[in-house]
Amino acid sequence: MIPAPTRVRPTPRNVALGEAVRFGLLGAHAPVIGLLDVDGVLRAVDELRTAFEPAPVLHTFAAKACALVPVLRLMAQAGMGCEVASAGELHLALAAGFPPERLILDNPAKTVEELRFALTRGIAINLDNFQELARVDALRSEGVGTGAPIGLRVNPQVGTGSIGAMSTATQTSKFGIALGDPGAVNAIVAAFAQRPWLSRLHAHVGSQGCSLELMAAGIKATYKLAEHINTLLGRFQVRSLDIGGGLPVNFADDEVKPTYADYVDVLRARVPGLLDGRYTLLTEFGRSLVAKSGTVASLVEYTKTSGGRPIAITHAGAQVATRTVFMPNAWPLRVGAHDANGRPKEGPTVPQDIAGPCCFAGDLTAVARPLPLLEPGDVVALHDTGAYYFSTHFAYNSLPRPAVYGYRVGEDDRVRFAPIRDAQSIGELVQEGGDEHGDSLVGLLDPAPEESEPAG
Ligand SMILES: *Cc1c(COP(=O)(O)O)cnc(C)c1O
Repeated sequence: MIPAPTRVRPTPRNVALGEAVRFGLLGAHAPVIGLLDVDGVLRAVDELRTAFEPAPVLHTFAAKACALVPVLRLMAQAGMGCEVASAGELHLALAAGFPPERLILDNPAKTVEELRFALTRGIAINLDNFQELARVDALRSEGVGTGAPIGLRVNPQVGTGSIGAMSTATQTSKFGIALGDPGAVNAIVAAFAQRPWLSRLHAHVGSQGCSLELMAAGIKATYKLAEHINTLLGRFQVRSLDIGGGLPVNFADDEVKPTYADYVDVLRARVPGLLDGRYTLLTEFGRSLVAKSGTVASLVEYTKTSGGRPIAITHAGAQVATRTVFMPNAWPLRVGAHDANGRPKEGPTVPQDIAGPCCFAGDLTAVARPLPLLEPGDVVALHDTGAYYFSTHFAYNSLPRPAVYGYRVGEDDRVRFAPIRDAQSIGELVQEGGDEHGDSLVGLLDPAPEESEPAG
């Protein structure tokens, strides 16, 4: 018996794509845009919070995953804190309205002025190394500081995930103090012994490509170090543990896996005591909170075949999908083929290359991908690009940053859009290219002006 056809409800992504075309957000004047599913983001925040309950946790959003003020403000309003790792991210977070006590400063190369700013404003800091600790000592001796938590980042050296460049807890990682190195643990204990104001340990094992077991092993080493310090010092000095982010995202289909609940299960099994409430926990998830809610949508400008291979030339390449283009094996993306109205294309699939607009041969977001044959005017969607894609622009070929919109799909499939970031204008691009100094180099070719004669 053939079952009666049921109407499959289109995904929010597909509804939004169609409406983005109909409303003219995506079109000849704006051939590439970013889209963010607001309800998807809020659902992820909710899943994160629920997974850790009832442990005392401050969940922070790693700003670098999507450093756009409206996104950060949405996170702030949803009760999140924010992890920042540069002066730029810090000021975006402040502009978004995060109270200082919900911020964590993690830059690997903090300047004295950045440390002073955080100390003065009551922003928690995770220190990366002993030299930085000495700088904080000096600032504190000047009376700078408010009592906001200060922690030390450790590198538990638990090894590499599937993407070396994203693994922060390798033997020789540049991050934190390497726990296994000779004398490191003793030096850390001494640092805490001498400074009762040091109250936190921080570890972030990696970002995408690390198994839950590897992440939990890093947290376990950090937890054991906290217990060791507190036992040796005979006081509960390490009060909070920042367990970082790094939950991997599934880029293969729409399923969310692993979930935050899966991760918490592994943490409970591998690090008994971690969630029992003695320690306040902090998390710093980025990718897993926003990746699956984002889409890069581009028009197909031209199509051709080369060496028999069909190629669709789009406006989304390395400028919005940098990692995918340069490391295609580590960062493959799903590509959706849509018609000129934004509706999913039907028909037999043909292996096609999906190319971007950049002037280098490797500017491909997919190679030999089986998709219904694309035509000029069609729409291509890069799925799961809410983190580290449209928000992490690469300025190659002076391509402008595309506009980004948030959206909500109502019960009736009505879509409401809100601007997150305007497209960069050509004027802004020219300005960014040093236009105000236009004459400077030509001016250097002129003879040097005579030194003016000293008066007298
Ligand atoms: C990048 C980063 C994060 C976030 O990593 P995700 O993989 O996006 O969750 C958290 N903490 C630190 C210190 C980071 O560098």
